[in-house]
Amino acid sequence: MMTVDKVLEIVEKEQVEFIRVEFLDYAGVTRGRTLRPKQLRDAMEKGVNFSTAIMCFDVFDEYIPNPTYGPNDGDFFAVPDPTTFAILPYRKNTARMLCDLVDVNGDPWPGCPRNALKRLLNEVETLLGGKMFMAFEQEAYLLKEVNGVLEPADQSHCFSSEGTDIQEDFIQEFVYSLEAMGVETEQISSEFGPGQLEINLKYAPALKAADDQVTFSHLYKQIARDKGMVGTLMPKPFPHLAGSGLHVHISLYDQAGENLFEDLTDQRGLDMSDKAYHFIGGLLKHGPSLIAIGAPSINSYKRMQPGSWAPAHVCYGAGNRSVLVRIPEKRRARRFEYRGADGTCNPYLLAACLVAAGLHGVQNQMNPGEPADLDVSKLSEGQLKERGITWVPRSLSQAVDYLSHDTILAETIGRSIWEEYIKIKRTEWDKYSRYVSDWERKVFTSRF
Ligand code: GLU
Ligand code: MG
Repeated sequence: MMTVDKVLEIVEKEQVEFIRVEFLDYAGVTRGRTLRPKQLRDAMEKGVNFSTAIMCFDVFDEYIPNPTYGPNDGDFFAVPDPTTFAILPYRKNTARMLCDLVDVNGDPWPGCPRNALKRLLNEVETLLGGKMFMAFEQEAYLLKEVNGVLEPADQSHCFSSEGTDIQEDFIQEFVYSLEAMGVETEQISSEFGPGQLEINLKYAPALKAADDQVTFSHLYKQIARDKGMVGTLMPKPFPHLAGSGLHVHISLYDQAGENLFEDLTDQRGLDMSDKAYHFIGGLLKHGPSLIAIGAPSINSYKRMQPGSWAPAHVCYGAGNRSVLVRIPEKRRARRFEYRGADGTCNPYLLAACLVAAGLHGVQNQMNPGEPADLDVSKLSEGQLKERGITWVPRSLSQAVDYLSHDTILAETIGRSIWEEYIKIKRTEWDKYSRYVSDWERKVFTSRF
């Protein structure tokens, strides 16, 4: 177990000269400061101060017009968590630590997403009698710049060995770097899109899984940059090519290692326990508002189109990739996969809200209905209605409207995060809706 003393010992032994202390804002952007070793003990004990206003920036890195925190609203303190200490493999004298945010009295700062997740995971252990595990499965592109225009870095095909061959240099360095930072990988694939990869992380307790996702996105971009490419988790970089999703596998184990989502007597034949069905019931009930957390960007909604293999409808299914919650075939451990997120989310908020929605489902024994066994995108509006299946919100604006009515999620992440998050996302939508693109100008000036 990593402790403050152990971290200090490694810093000295490995001659670490710089320590970056980092946290994520509501737009999913990593922020932080860099410390010299002498300041580290103090930082781990008391925290490093930041103006609370840093949590009021949108994805365009602009301070929103109606922020909760202004110049007169003081500071929070970022306390690096020793368990996240890792030396950066590409800059050996530098380490990185992820932080919890506390207030001036040292109490958890209510605006901290990592705190919200920790609080909720504790509740789950008491209420569900098990520990929540997650595995994040991120798809991402490698791009190169040609004459000032970004295009896929290669023309690899889906699951082709050629695709992995072409990017072997990147892939190996990426995987070794993840491992050096304590993140285990399971599988590497050349995904559907040209230049698109998928690297699956090993399942871990949900807090570590979210920390690992932060490490993933940091390293993916950094190593691509080092190799003269652009690595991006952007959900839909090209309209005609596959989007990049972030799928989250969710499981629940008790202390004896018993899988609480498994029940071999399941009448539906899926080997799932009532707890699992109710959890899924909660994910579907909160489906539209969860989308605002997991798919929080204007671009996210271009990914979730019918027939795209990304979910366009709120339903679940076994072995079905057109749904929001997929139950994978059971060759490996019984679990399910939430497919509604992408790499622009804050993984702490995502994990917290998934757990909150599921917990709400279990506590109220929510019934998810029958699993969808066909490509949902082929159903007519009438057939969808008959089956009680709704669309995933079609825009960030719609999703945020759902979130603004979801009091369960509000209580989960805390009113202050929820309110600020909604303000930030509405600001982003407002900017987008005022923007006039080249494409629009071309069409309209030539027609009218
Ligand atoms: N690329 C799809 C998405 O955006 C997922 C494809 C797959 O099932 O791996 O979610
Ligand atoms: Mg995939």
